Amino acid sequence: MAREENQLTGQESLQQTRTFGKVRCHNPSCMERIVPEPGTDHAKCATCGMEFRIFWVNPKLPRIRGPVWDVNRKIAQDRFKEVTEAKLEAKKKGGK
Ligand SMILES: [Zn+2]
Repeated sequence: MAREENQLTGQESLQQTRTFGKVRCHNPSCMERIVPEPGTDHAKCATCGMEFRIFWVNPKLPRIRGPVWDVNRKIAQDRFKEVTEAKLEAKKKGGK
């Protein structure tokens, strides 16, 4: 009997360690966990800054519906700009 009780306790502790309320960032080079505010319809990744639209399977289980294109496009453009400017800067220095 004691053994059965131990098994039950083991299953309960396993359930508690499951990551409810978290989603994984869809940025392939990031993949960090995002913890959306309960009931929110979008969440921002604290690591890479990309934003995602969230829907809730149930009050504790969020899923990513898709990326917020305006924000992610802006991030991509800013990065492109940085790279382009860095190349121009390198050209100027190299040209002299
Ligand atoms: Zn991310």
